[in-house]
Amino acid sequence: MRRAENTELTRYRARWIVETPDLVHEDAELLVQGGRVRGLRRRGPGTPDVDFGSALILPGFVNAHTHLDLTLCETARNYARRSAEPDFWRWVRHVVAYRRSVDQDELCRAVQAGVEQSIAAGVVAVGDITTVGLPLDCWQPLRGVVFGEVLGLEPAREQAILQRARLWLADAPAESAVRASLAPHAPYSASPDLFRQCVDLVRGRGLPLATHLAETAEEMGLCRPARTGGLDLSGGNGRRFHPSARPLIELLRELGAWFPERLSLIPDVLRLISTAGMSWVVAHGNYLNSQDWRTLRNWAALVYCPSTHLRFRRPPHPFEQMVTDGLEVAIGTDSLASANSLSVLDEARLVHRGGTRWPPSTLLAAITRVPARALGLHHHGTLEPGCAADFCVVRLPDGDGDPLHALFESDSPVCATVIGGQPVYWA
Ligand SMILES: [Zn+2]
Repeated sequence: MRRAENTELTRYRARWIVETPDLVHEDAELLVQGGRVRGLRRRGPGTPDVDFGSALILPGFVNAHTHLDLTLCETARNYARRSAEPDFWRWVRHVVAYRRSVDQDELCRAVQAGVEQSIAAGVVAVGDITTVGLPLDCWQPLRGVVFGEVLGLEPAREQAILQRARLWLADAPAESAVRASLAPHAPYSASPDLFRQCVDLVRGRGLPLATHLAETAEEMGLCRPARTGGLDLSGGNGRRFHPSARPLIELLRELGAWFPERLSLIPDVLRLISTAGMSWVVAHGNYLNSQDWRTLRNWAALVYCPSTHLRFRRPPHPFEQMVTDGLEVAIGTDSLASANSLSVLDEARLVHRGGTRWPPSTLLAAITRVPARALGLHHHGTLEPGCAADFCVVRLPDGDGDPLHALFESDSPVCATVIGGQPVYWA
């Protein structure tokens, strides 16, 4: 196609154009100028610059929870894919071994491979958990927030870890398309103090923080004080843990990371999230209860990662009830080391085929508008006038049915992705 100059008006025509998840235009044209959506209109006279024909133009997808630096982690990926019932903690051991064996250049290559796969799947923005220290230009041309992962209960290491994070944030250009924030990893790997210090470092940057919460039964056994009794492995300080915590405790011991007096408790993390005055992106929440998600709802969006959830045989996820109770839920992929792909459209199709009560418009919102808002991307997630001209295109059979229903029923891949008015993927 012809690459339009930034100031030229470009007309994209398609059978259907999604302005917002609730507003689909038929036989329409998307007008793009200067990297922004100038407007939508009924099919105009003359020949458009690009005519996609029987296709759906959609707001570019937003993947609010992934780990692109694990895109090339073949050992964990093979283990997760080839085992009938992969054990999560064995999988984590593969991830840890990979991280310890690679240098920063390899991680950058992994991020770039992940960026390429994301773009080919219509993703224009990410909330990416990453290794502190990677340069932000690895993510070009994606938009979004990269959350430097901060973890380690060992008191002697904590200050060094925070200092690295502080320098990385200070070096991050404020005006880049991706911006840098932090992710205290999880209650069992970050102390209450580490959580608080991450909040202090990010405060004032206008960005959310991220964390993993209530992902496994073992984490609940270790970090949910109501579930105590039966197992005392705390080295005599009197703290008792539920027997279900044992595999996690074994892993932490093996990694030299077993400091039971420094664990964060889930109720304390929930309290911090709901009182810090910052927004959060919380991954998984598989074992949260309704009181927990009501505590979160004014401050956090939750990201449900369906194929990873299925891979590790978690109990059914309460995402529908969470939304009914007022918590925003986005659909993400998690890393390629556990997910089927880096396509949030594939993940949403999985939810659709799993028999969700959600209508197609709600599913689409969970991979566009909801994650865009969660990441503070105010010009993403819809194609309303003034929004970024970040969109993708999926060809659909020419029919009279609901195109969003057809989108989730079909396996039709993304055939084009445009970011800032420029094509970045064209199949
Ligand atoms: Zn994750």
